[in-house]
Amino acid sequence: MNEGLVTVSYIAATILFILSLGGLSNPETSRRGNYYGMVGMAIAVIATVLGPKVTSVVPIVIAMLIGGSIGLTAAKRVQMTQMPELVAAMHSLVGLAAVLIGFASYLDPSAHFTGVEKTIHEVEIYIGILIGAVTFSGSVIAFGKLAGKIDGKPLLLPGRHVLNLLGLLTVIWFCNLFLNVESGGAGILFLVVMTVIALAFGVHMVMAIGGADMPVVVSMLNSYSGWAAAATGFMLSNDLLIVTGALVGSSGAILSFIMCRAMNRNFVSVIAGGFGTGGGSSAAALDGQPQGEVQPISAEDTAELMRNASKIIFVPGYGMAVAQAQHTVFEITKALRERGIDVHFAIHPVAGRMPGHMNVLLAEAKVPYDIVAEMDEINDEFAATDLAMVIGANDIVNPAAQDDPNSPIAGMPVLEVWKAKTSIVMKRSMASGYAGVDNPLFYKENNRMLFGDAKKMLDEVLTALRAG
Ligand code: NDP
Repeated sequence: MNEGLVTVSYIAATILFILSLGGLSNPETSRRGNYYGMVGMAIAVIATVLGPKVTSVVPIVIAMLIGGSIGLTAAKRVQMTQMPELVAAMHSLVGLAAVLIGFASYLDPSAHFTGVEKTIHEVEIYIGILIGAVTFSGSVIAFGKLAGKIDGKPLLLPGRHVLNLLGLLTVIWFCNLFLNVESGGAGILFLVVMTVIALAFGVHMVMAIGGADMPVVVSMLNSYSGWAAAATGFMLSNDLLIVTGALVGSSGAILSFIMCRAMNRNFVSVIAGGFGTGGGSSAAALDGQPQGEVQPISAEDTAELMRNASKIIFVPGYGMAVAQAQHTVFEITKALRERGIDVHFAIHPVAGRMPGHMNVLLAEAKVPYDIVAEMDEINDEFAATDLAMVIGANDIVNPAAQDDPNSPIAGMPVLEVWKAKTSIVMKRSMASGYAGVDNPLFYKENNRMLFGDAKKMLDEVLTALRAG
C-alpha cells in the first residue's frame, strides 16, 4: 500500500472515529457508534500494517494474533461489574506502550535528527514517556482499587503536595539536562530517573484519591491514555495516532469535568486527593450508631404497593449490576405497564461503577429508552411519585449530601427519592455504599427496606405481582 492510500485510509478512519464518538453520546445511537469505531480501527490497523513503514508483516501479525486473543478472552470473560477494572487495565497498557515506544525511539540507531529537529524529537520522547508512565502506574493502582485488591481509602502521606511539587520540578530540571546531552548513556540515565519519578507520581496520585472520586479518576486516566497515544503519534510521526489520541484525551477530559460537576466536586481538589477523610463524618455515621429504626417490608407487600401506585420510579445502582437483576426489573416494568402504571427509571451520572453503567444494563435488558431519564430530567418528579424503588443503590440516594454539611459527600447532587410518597430500598444489609457513609434515607418515616439479593427479591416481587 503506498503512502497516498495510507493517508486516505487514515482520513477515513479519523472520520469514523469522530462519528463513533458522536454515536456514543446517546444510548439509541451507541450501537452504531461502536460499529463506526470498529470499522475505523480495522481500517487504521490494516492501513498501518500494509503501509510502507512496515518492512516485515509476519511478526506484527503474530503479535496481533496473540494480543487479539488475550483481548478477546478478557472481554468475553469479564463480568459487567468488572468493566471498570478492565478499562483501567487497558489504560495501563496504553501507558506502558508509550513508555516502551519512547525508549525505543530514543535508542533507535536509524534515527538521525540534528539541531532543532533533534530537540523537538527528544521533547516528544520525554513527554511521551512522562505521560505514559503516570498513566501506567496510576491505572495499575486504579485497577487494584476497583478490583478491591488495594484499600479504597485515600492514602495521605504527610506533605504530599510538596512531594508532588518536588517531583514536578525535578522532572522539568531533568528535561533540561536531558536535552543538553549528546544521545547515549547520560540521556538514558535522565530518562530512566524521570520514568521512576513519573511511576511514583502515578501511584501516589491515585493512592491519595478516595472511593467516591474513583469514577473521575478512571475517566481522567482515560484522558491521560489518549494524550500518551498522541505523544506516541508525535514520536512515530503517525498522524492518525495523534488525532485519535487527541480525541480520546479531550473526550476523557470533558467527561471528567462533566462527572465532577455531577458530583459537585472541583476537578483540582479531586486530583489533589484526600476526599472522604477530613471534615468529620456524616451525622448518621457517628460511631457507626444507627439513627433510628428501619422498617422492613416483604416482597408481597412491595407488590401490593406497586399495584396500588399510579406512578413508580426505579432507581438502579451498583447492587442491581452485582445481582444481575436488570432482566427481572424489565419483566416487572412490563407487568406494571400492562396494568397502566406509569414507570420511569432515574439514572444518576455516577450510579454503578463506571459512567453509563446503568444505561448499558438497562439497554441489555431491553428497557425502552424513552422511560429512562437522567437525574436532572427526573429529580423534580419524585414529589409526584407514589413509589420510588431503589434497587441496590446507596450513595446516589443519600439525603446527607443535601442535609449534612459535614458529610463527606456534602454537595453531591443526589436523586431525591425520599420525596416520593413511599420509597423502598432494596439491599442485602445495612452496609454502607462505595463512599463508606451511612444513609439517613433508610430511617425515614416513609421508607421501607426490602432486604435480600436484588435478583432473588425482585423474582419474588414479580411472582407476587403476577399472582395479584
Ligand atoms: P453504592 O456502592 O453506593 O451502593 C450499592 C449498594 O448495593 C450497596 O450499599 C450494597 O448494599 C447493595 N448491593 C450490593 N450487592 C447487592 C445485591 N446482590 N443485591 C442487592 N443489593 C446489593 O452504589 P451506587 O450505585 O448508589 O453509587 C455509586 C457509588 O460508586 C458512588 O459513590 C460513586 O461515586 C462510586 N463509583 C462510581 C463509578 C462510576 O463511574 N459510576 C466508578 C467508581 C465508583 P448491601 O451490601 O447491603 O447489599
